[in-house]
Amino acid sequence: MELPATHAYPQFTHHGAAGGVTGSCHRYEASPDTHLLVDCGLFQGQDVTKSDHHAQHRIEFDISAIQALLVTHVHIDHIGRLPYLVAAGFKGPIICSEPSARLLPLVIEDALKVGFTKDEALITRFLAAVKHLLVPIPYKQWHTVTDNDQITLKVRLQRAGHILGSAYVEVDTFYKKEKRHHLTVFSGDLGAPYAPLLPAPKAPHGCDALVIESTYGNRLHENRRERRKRLHAVITHALQNQGTVMIPAFSIGRTQEILYELEGMIFEARKTSPSDNTVDWSKLQVIVDSPLASKFNEVYRELKPFWDAEAQQRLRAGRHPLSFENLITVDSHEAHQKVVSHLARTRQPAVVLAASGMAAGGRIVNYLKAMLNDPAHCVLFVGYQARGTTGHRLLQIASNGVKGDGGASSSVPLYSSVPIDGVSIEVRAMIRSIGGYSAHADQKDLLNFVRRMHKWPTHVRIIHGERRARESLRDELKALAEKAGRPMEIVVPG
Ligand SMILES: [Zn+2]
Repeated sequence: MELPATHAYPQFTHHGAAGGVTGSCHRYEASPDTHLLVDCGLFQGQDVTKSDHHAQHRIEFDISAIQALLVTHVHIDHIGRLPYLVAAGFKGPIICSEPSARLLPLVIEDALKVGFTKDEALITRFLAAVKHLLVPIPYKQWHTVTDNDQITLKVRLQRAGHILGSAYVEVDTFYKKEKRHHLTVFSGDLGAPYAPLLPAPKAPHGCDALVIESTYGNRLHENRRERRKRLHAVITHALQNQGTVMIPAFSIGRTQEILYELEGMIFEARKTSPSDNTVDWSKLQVIVDSPLASKFNEVYRELKPFWDAEAQQRLRAGRHPLSFENLITVDSHEAHQKVVSHLARTRQPAVVLAASGMAAGGRIVNYLKAMLNDPAHCVLFVGYQARGTTGHRLLQIASNGVKGDGGASSSVPLYSSVPIDGVSIEVRAMIRSIGGYSAHADQKDLLNFVRRMHKWPTHVRIIHGERRARESLRDELKALAEKAGRPMEIVVPG
C-alpha cells in the first residue's frame, strides 16, 4: 500500500504518556516556530521514576515556540504539570472547553495544596493568574490560534465522553505556500459509550494524523446494563446484611457516575410496591465523604446544559440525579470521624464514596480501618487499582479466595489481613470489583473511533497506555487497516 507523499511538517514530540499511562504532554509542531502543547499532566504511580518528584515534573523542554496549551480534560495526569509550566515562563493561552475552564481551577487548587504549599494567599494569586490565561471555547467551533504569512492554525473541540468537559481536539494547519491542509486529531482520553451523564463521543469526519490513547487498548469492558446489575446486586446484599458499601473513588468523574446510577436505582425501587422489594431502598443512605467531591458535584450540577439527553430527561421529570433525597455530604474532619464510628457501630445500610480511588490515602482509609474486619460490610472497587496500593492488595486477597472468575467478584477467605498505617487489619468484609466505570473507551471503542471516520488517518501515534495495551491496539489497528485496504503508518513512541 502506497503512503501519500510526506511533508516535513507537522511533527510530533511527546513529553509524557508515551511510554506509560500518565504525564500526558504532547507537542504539535505546525512549523519550526509554531507549536502547540496538548495537555501537561503529572506523572503518577510507577511512571514516577525520580525520588524528587518536583525534579521529574519541572519543565525542562524549550517552550519558546509554544503558541498555546490545549487542555483535553481536567484529570491531574493531563493538567498537573501546569504550575511547573507557568513557573517555566508559559504565558498562555490555555484553550479548553467551557466546563473544563470551570473545573480546572478547582483541580489545580487541590493539587497546589497537596503538593506545593498551604499558603492560601500564594494559592489565590496563582489561581487568579491561571484563570487569566484560560480561553474557554465552545464545542464544535473552529478557533484560530495563529494566522501568519506561512500558516493558519485552527483548533476545534469535540465531546470525548470521558468526564464533564472532556474533549478530543482537531488541529487544522493550512500551509499557505503549498495550499495544503493537514488535520490532526488528538484523542485525549476517550470515554466509553453509554457512560452515565455524558453523551457518547462521535468519531470525527476524518483526519490525516491521529494521536490516540490506549489505556484499555487490550481490554473489553462489561456493558452498562451488566455493570448496573452488578452494582445493584452488591447494594442489595449490603441492605440485606445491614452493612455499609465502601466505594473508594476519586472526586471527579466516577463519583458522579456512581451517584447518578444510585439515584436511578432508588427511583426505580420507589416505583415498585414495597412488598415487591426484598429490601427497603428508601432506607439506603448515600454518603459522599469528601469536601472536594462535593465541590465537584456542585459544579457538575451547575453544568447541567452539558449533560446527556437521558440525564436531561431525569431533570425534566423533576429528579435531581446529583442531589437526591438520600444523599448526604460530609465536609469537616469532625463530621467524618463521627460518620465512620456511627456506621461501624450501628447497622444502618449505607453507601459511602470517599477518596482516594485506590485506597492509598484519604478518608476511605479510616472507613477501611473501622469496618474491614466485619463481614456485614463490603468494599466495592470501581476503578483501576495500581500495584502496591491497599486497593490492589485487597483485590489480591479477594482473588485468592475463589478461583475461576479472575478475581473480579469473589468471597474473602478468613484470616487474611492488610497492613494499613502500620496496623494489620483482618479482612472479613466482602471485596467486590466492577469494571467499566472507568470512563475510558475499551479496545472495541477505540477501533470504532477510527473505523467510523470517513477519511482514515494515514499516520497514527499510539500513546497513553501500558506497553501491552499499546502493542495490542497497534496490532488490531494494523489488521483493521490492512483488511480495509487503507494505507496506515502506525507509530508507538516510547
Ligand atoms: Zn482522564
